[in-house]
Amino acid sequence: MTDPLLRAEGLVKEYPTSERFLDRLLGNRRWVQALQGVDLTVRAGETLALVGESGCGKSTLGRTLVHLEEPTAGTVTHRGDDLGSLSSSALRARRRDLQYVFQNPTASLDPRLTVGDAVGEALDAHDLVPDDRTRARRIAELLETVGLRPAHATRYPRELSGGQRQRVGIARALAVDPEFVVCDEPVSALDVSVQAGILDLLADLQAERDIAFLLVAHDLSVVEHLADRVAVMYLGHVVERGTVDEVFSPPYHPYTYSLLSAIPEPDPRWDGDRVVLDGTVPSATDPPDGCAFHTRCPIAQSDCGAWDAHPDLEPVDGDGGHEIACPYHDLLEEYE
Ligand code: ADP
Ligand code: MG
Repeated sequence: MTDPLLRAEGLVKEYPTSERFLDRLLGNRRWVQALQGVDLTVRAGETLALVGESGCGKSTLGRTLVHLEEPTAGTVTHRGDDLGSLSSSALRARRRDLQYVFQNPTASLDPRLTVGDAVGEALDAHDLVPDDRTRARRIAELLETVGLRPAHATRYPRELSGGQRQRVGIARALAVDPEFVVCDEPVSALDVSVQAGILDLLADLQAERDIAFLLVAHDLSVVEHLADRVAVMYLGHVVERGTVDEVFSPPYHPYTYSLLSAIPEPDPRWDGDRVVLDGTVPSATDPPDGCAFHTRCPIAQSDCGAWDAHPDLEPVDGDGGHEIACPYHDLLEEYE
C-alpha cells in the first residue's frame, strides 16, 4: 500500500481549563483532554468523514492535522516529514498543501475585506500570482469554481448570504491548490435550503480535483453520500474506522451502533433496536477510567471500567481495514 498523505500517531491535545493565576499557583489547573491518543491516516484524494457528538474532539483533531495547533504529544507526518519538527518557513510552505474550511463562514471572513481580497490574500500569502491582472483573473476563476460570479469580487461578506460566504471560504482554501482540506461541519451554520448546494459543490470538487477531504459532519446520510472512509470519535478517541460500508453495517462499535440507531429515520438497511444513550457525554476534564464509553454503553461488562486504558483499535476482519476499539462488540449481536 502506498504511504498515506497524512499520518497522525498518538495525538494528544490538552487544554488548560482555567487561566486564573491563583489556580495556577495552587496547582489547581485542570486539563481538558480533547485528544487522548489518536491514530489516523488520510490517503491522497479520499474523503474521510469524522463523526461523533459535539465536544468529542473533531475540530481539535482537524486543527492539529493541518498544524493550526500543535499537539501536546504525538506526531503528524505529511509526506514523510513530522510537521512539528519543520522550521517555520518550511511549515509556512506546507500550509499551502493543508487547508481548513471553518464551520462558521461569517466568523472566519474578515468583514473589512472584499470577497476578491479575501481570496486574493490566500494567493498573495504564497506568491502565486505575478501581477494584478493575473490575480484578478485567478480570483474570478476561483469564484466561478465555487458557483459565485466574478462580480462578487467587489462585494463585502455582509452583502452575501450564509451559503455564499461559505463558498468564499471554500474558494480561499482552493486558491492555493491544496492536497488536503479539513471541512469542519461546512454546512451546519447554514440554512437547510442551501446545505445541499454546498455539499454538491464539495462532491464535485472531490471528483474534479485530487484533493483529500476530512469532512467533519453530523448528518450520517451526508457522510454516507460523500465519504470513502469514516472515523467515529468518542471523548478524544477514535473508536471505529473503516470504509463507509464497513462502519455503517455490522459488526459495529457499540457507540457507532447507538449513533446509527439514533437517526430519526434510520437507514432502510437498519434493523437493530433503537438505543437512546443516557445522559450527556462525560466531561473531557474527567474522562471515565478504562473504556471511555463504558458509562453509557449498551453492552458494558463489569470489567470495562477497570482496564488500565481505553481499548486499542483492533482489526475486525482479515484485511485490517475495519477496526473497532471494543473487545466485546460481538455481544451486540445478542443485544439486537
Ligand atoms: P468537537 O469539534 O467534536 O465538537 P472540539 O474539538 O471543539 O470538539 O472540543 C473538544 C474538547 O476540547 C471540548 O471539551 C472543548 O470544550 C475543548 N476545547 C476545544 N478547543 C479548546 C480551547 N481552545 N481551549 C479550551 N478547551 C477547548
Ligand atoms: Mg467542532
